Amino acid sequence: MSFIYNYSLKSLNTFGIDVMARQFATFQDIESLKNLLSQIKPEQNLLVIGGGSNMLFTKDFDGVVIKNEIKGIELINEDNSHYFVKAGAGEIWHDLVMFCVANNYQGIENLALIPGCVGASPMQNIGAYGVELKDVFHELDAIEITTGNLVHFNLQECKFGYRESVFKNELKNKFIIVSVTFKLNKLPVFNTSYGNISSVLNEKGIRDITMKEIADAVIEIRSSKLPDPKIIGNAGSFFKNPEIGIEQFEKLRKDYPTIVGYPTELGKIKVAAGWLIENAGWKGKVFRGAYGVHKNQALVLVNYGAATGSEIFELSQNIIDSVFLKFDIKLNREVNIY
Ligand code: FAD
Ligand code: NAP
Repeated sequence: MSFIYNYSLKSLNTFGIDVMARQFATFQDIESLKNLLSQIKPEQNLLVIGGGSNMLFTKDFDGVVIKNEIKGIELINEDNSHYFVKAGAGEIWHDLVMFCVANNYQGIENLALIPGCVGASPMQNIGAYGVELKDVFHELDAIEITTGNLVHFNLQECKFGYRESVFKNELKNKFIIVSVTFKLNKLPVFNTSYGNISSVLNEKGIRDITMKEIADAVIEIRSSKLPDPKIIGNAGSFFKNPEIGIEQFEKLRKDYPTIVGYPTELGKIKVAAGWLIENAGWKGKVFRGAYGVHKNQALVLVNYGAATGSEIFELSQNIIDSVFLKFDIKLNREVNIY
């Protein structure tokens, strides 16, 4: 296992930001990962990368970037009501979803077409259309960076929250996830109440719903709304939806009757960040002809090809400031900044 020096990361991040890593290597199994880790000094910055679809590089990475390419998807167990499917961290997330759809392993279909790899999915407990990773998660295996030990984490130990996990908080930069095992339903428990999934199914005249039809509906909706990173650089939603108290929400609703918010289990209101950004006047804005805010979805910042990461970061700060000024709500970034 050897490193490449001064390696361009442009094709490895979906924003398409042209930065260099001081050192770069890939690993295809646990042994090659351990071998790489043994060559990295404790004082060196280390970054593990999957699909690069949730990161923004604002400068060259002065350290070691290692890309997870551990493959493999297999059914490892089943009980009366569940299938247990184990996937290597370097598998493409959408390929895993399609594998489950093809085999009728249910519960994961609403998460179709999320970019990136399996290994990053627990990092922010990926979610879409009313389903989160935690709903289909069984356990994961990870290598501890300092010791090289393989450690198992169960559902509780991952401390999943809204776009959160233990790996983004107290265990940040301590583990490299090498595989994830999913617990999928034998009997369908479909979730079609979210967004316009049910209206798309109705339009098609679909009565007897299958997981394939839900996955297809999600793919259709996502493709029509979101920019394809292969064409326009982006990292999906740049900000999390902020949660505020009911009183503050009701006060805002008096001034802005169209504001969008949903009650959370903890008695707060999750406000649609896209609505806040759009109503602060940012939707569709283009700067220097190079970057801006997407015209269909204000939550997505885009690189039309020639932006630097620091320009996009500065834009995100300007958005945070203006939303705060107008609505007294502080947006937090979802994308990881380097
Ligand atoms: P990367 O960007 O490579 O890494 C993200 C973070 O995880 C980094 O901190 C990295 O160091 C760490 N990491 C990566 N792999 C490992 C590993 N094996 N072990 C330890 N740490 C690791 N997200 C959603 O939640 N829901 C969506 O609906 C959604 N839609 C999106 C749509 C578009 C068009 C885009 C571009 C992004 C979207 N995202 C969405 C964000 C993104 O796809 C997810 O966060 C995805 O899980 C990132 O995977 P990745 O492999 O690209 O991670
Ligand atoms: P949308 O359907 O226009 O909805 C706007 C926001 O309202 C979403 O952010 C969603 O919150 C919330 N919402 C909508 N219906 C809801 C319901 N019935 N109950 C609770 N909350 C509801 O959103 P969109 O931008 O097109 O995205 C659709 C789905 O894909 C969302 O789940 C979104 O999170 C996910 N997505 C995520 C990313 C990312 O990078 N993280 C990128 C694109 C899409 P939630 O975001 O909390 O679900």
